[in-house]
Amino acid sequence: MQPGAGSTGFNNLFPDNEIVISGPGEIPLLKLFGIDAGSNFMLPDYDFAIQNKYIAPGFILSYNTSVGCPWKKCTFCPEKYEDNPYIQERYTKVTTELLFLVKKYNPVLVHLTDSEISPAMLKTLAENPIRVPWYGFCRFTKILTDIDFCRQLANSGCKMLSMGLESGDKEVLKAMEKGINLEEVPIILENLKEAGIGTYIYVLFGTPAEDRDAALKTRDFVAKHAHLIDFTNAAVFNLPVNSEEAEFLDTDNFYEGDLSLYSEFKHPKGWGRKEVRQFLKKDFSSVPEIREILNRVPPVFDSSHAPFFL
Ligand code: SF4
Repeated sequence: MQPGAGSTGFNNLFPDNEIVISGPGEIPLLKLFGIDAGSNFMLPDYDFAIQNKYIAPGFILSYNTSVGCPWKKCTFCPEKYEDNPYIQERYTKVTTELLFLVKKYNPVLVHLTDSEISPAMLKTLAENPIRVPWYGFCRFTKILTDIDFCRQLANSGCKMLSMGLESGDKEVLKAMEKGINLEEVPIILENLKEAGIGTYIYVLFGTPAEDRDAALKTRDFVAKHAHLIDFTNAAVFNLPVNSEEAEFLDTDNFYEGDLSLYSEFKHPKGWGRKEVRQFLKKDFSSVPEIREILNRVPPVFDSSHAPFFL
């Protein structure tokens, strides 16, 4: 791509750079080298990597069943503000290819690298076991309120699900268009625990709609359900420079020199990055139940190696 050719205008942010590819880069990168890859989905070839030693108990096979996100509404997420298209590979092709790759490479773990595995894909995986432990990202979706389905998913090899809770405050969830039902979250966590599927839960502090009281609700929600959560990640919100929210906030350059995908902003409720960081240190991580989960997160590789620590 040439400057200014990016679908979401990223190239305009980096006028001195030759090329910026927004969203998935594999196909555009191959095109730059004159290779017509044809499709978003190609059978991965790991022959070059399989003999190389790696800091893991064995080979971890990465595989995408889709690109983009079937939900694509969360206001803080690149899938939304980069406007990436959602493309789901055919279910039969996914299951056939996964079985082929598992037989070929004999992995100890399959990492489904989708931004979000759709409910329909979860169902397909549950019904077509790949016979090796796997994990990936999915939403707190209704289908997981069914304990029988969660058991079927566990039997298919599902070892861990990574899920974005983001907030324990309904109004904040509504403002960020997360689209999850907070009442269903404990049921889903109970079901996954009961079925033997581990959980890696993501929370996000400092979004424009949040204040300290809302953040305390998130903290209390996590603490209350800590016995059902295996790992957690607490992040400080960054305002994407080209998000819709940036248009309505008092913003400034994040770093000197303009070379950033994020903007500094004046939080409308005085709940800025400094306050959030102090909160995370003093009020969130200090809760014994939460500290226990945080201490469980494997160092360095964190979520990538978490399934080995379940
Ligand atoms: S569900 Fe996940 S991937 Fe999809 S828009 Fe929300 S945060 Fe992004």
